Amino acid sequence: SGPRLVVIGGGFGGASAARFARISYPDVNVTLIEPYDSFVTCPYGNLILGGKRALPQITHSYDGLRARGVDVVQNRARDIDPVAKRVTLADDTRIAYDKLIVSPGIALRRDAIEGYDEAASEIFPHAWMGGDGSQISILRRQLEALPEGGVVGLAIPPNPFRCPPGPYERISMIAHHLKQHNPRAKILAFDAKDGFSKQGLFQDGWAELYGDMIEWIPASQDGTITAVDPQERVFISEFGERHKVDVGNVIPPQYAAAIARDTGLADDSGWVPVDPLTFAAEAAPDIHVIGDANIGSPMPKSGYVANSTSKQAVAAAIADLRGEAAPADPVYFNTCYSHLGDDYAVSVAAIFRKDGEGGIMATPDSGGLSPRGPLSELAYNRRREAEYADAWYDSITTDMFS
Ligand code: FAD
Repeated sequence: SGPRLVVIGGGFGGASAARFARISYPDVNVTLIEPYDSFVTCPYGNLILGGKRALPQITHSYDGLRARGVDVVQNRARDIDPVAKRVTLADDTRIAYDKLIVSPGIALRRDAIEGYDEAASEIFPHAWMGGDGSQISILRRQLEALPEGGVVGLAIPPNPFRCPPGPYERISMIAHHLKQHNPRAKILAFDAKDGFSKQGLFQDGWAELYGDMIEWIPASQDGTITAVDPQERVFISEFGERHKVDVGNVIPPQYAAAIARDTGLADDSGWVPVDPLTFAAEAAPDIHVIGDANIGSPMPKSGYVANSTSKQAVAAAIADLRGEAAPADPVYFNTCYSHLGDDYAVSVAAIFRKDGEGGIMATPDSGGLSPRGPLSELAYNRRREAEYADAWYDSITTDMFS
């Protein structure tokens, strides 16, 4: 009867889109295709490493979406035919659509780090995709088993990648765990960049909370890791230095998930060009690509952006089916909170609007960073931000799954 909206991927973009579509357009039939039976969020995954959360607290069922009338199909999309407007699943079932929303997230560029194959990620977990929760659990267990005074290595990718402050929140949460359980341990953070999101705030916090436990090694000081030897537990840098680590977290360079690249939606960069006012893919106007898989600059690849933009994508898709124009003045939001320790979080916020040239821009004076300064002066602010972060997590997951 009603139009058919099919959504690929039940994460931050896809679950938000499916829920919003059911609430706002009751006549639309919504199908959500997702291979996992529940969703493990990457946000707050770092808090598992810090011992501040457990896996069930960041695992969400699709029952709430089913109760809203979303047809949740537990399967993997294998192919998209943009002319016949059909999705083919891994078991060859076909699902027809009038409009398709694609939010499959990222894939790891395993070829960018020699030796980092599937088997290597059991020894050096990436823990950069929720999946079934096993990656973050491996990393947590390895930290618990770290020898007294051992070395934790991280390999951090170049831009663009999912969650710009994520690796640095991870460093903080690992340090939080080690300070309590293994205070002589060291963290070596090898970075393929010379600067990072909220850098001043992170480095102030690390010095205040963790003394000299954390060493950050930028690209210009040979911080780019180009190969690993998991058997020997070694990271190998661009200039051939071998670094022995007891626990290794390898976060490889990234590109859009396979379904977005194999179907010709992505360009040579590996990411999908879209119209940022509708999220229609340049290569296929009835396919709207949201979340990390698209080129959304200047918006970061964050869960908040995936959620916020999903609503405009749905509204634009449905408007097009009705022969109407997309909502003309979309506003997209982002705040990325990062926990550095107990009662200690910092944030970066921005509001994005049309730039008048078909693109989008950060609205001047609309956001910004947490203030810098000594903890003695900012303890109240840091504690409030940690509370805001918890509230953000509860409200966004409610807006996805309830
Ligand atoms: P995802 O949320 O990853 O969802 C993609 C879904 O698509 C997955 O469920 C996957 O199984 C499914 N899928 C993939 N391929 C197919 C296919 N072929 N067929 C069907 N389904 C498929 N963001 C924030 O805003 N705040 C934070 O505090 C924050 N912290 C983070 C911390 C860490 C450690 C990490 C790694 C990320 C963090 N992020 C944070 C970023 C956030 O996780 C991503 O930006 C967000 O998940 C992007 O949403 P998405 O819909 O593009 O992808």
